[in-house]
Amino acid sequence: MLIDDDETINAFCTPGGYIYVYTALLKAVLNEAVLASVLAHEIAHAERRHAMKRMTTHLGVQTVMSIALHNNQGGLTELAANAFTGAGLLMNSRSDENEADEYSFRYIRETDWYPGDLLYFFEVVKGRKGTAVDRFLSTHPLPEDRIENTQKRLASANIAPPTESQLRTREYEVFKRSLNGAKSGG
Ligand SMILES: [Zn+2]
Repeated sequence: MLIDDDETINAFCTPGGYIYVYTALLKAVLNEAVLASVLAHEIAHAERRHAMKRMTTHLGVQTVMSIALHNNQGGLTELAANAFTGAGLLMNSRSDENEADEYSFRYIRETDWYPGDLLYFFEVVKGRKGTAVDRFLSTHPLPEDRIENTQKRLASANIAPPTESQLRTREYEVFKRSLNGAKSGG
């Protein structure tokens, strides 16, 4: 699901498995392959049930159960979305981040995209300062070892440097222009 917000470079996954992406993130990434790996990272958080584990730890099983029973999935998703965008209650741990990166790498290797593109995303995050990046870091910690681990994965899998067809930078530029066009058109 898309959140129309040009200030927040982020994406997150709720316990219900819904993935939210901010428009600022779509505009910040360099090419389609980077976006694919960021989404794969979020899919991995969903698949590994990271948000649900975190929510149960913080709120207690009973609270989560009662929300699930009385308010159904919608309530759970809303609560998680508030927690994510609010105090950073459900911040992913370093081990969750590493596991999500690992699965993202595996998922993308099955596709035509370059599987090392998380590195490009780290460059974007490192190159920027201010609230947009601070908000990203509030849910996805970015220790240096994430970069190092991605480089190790690329090396041990013998992944060659990317070609344009694996990055799809030109196609992505066209998509970004269409985003801006859609917005000014209402
Ligand atoms: Zn993450």
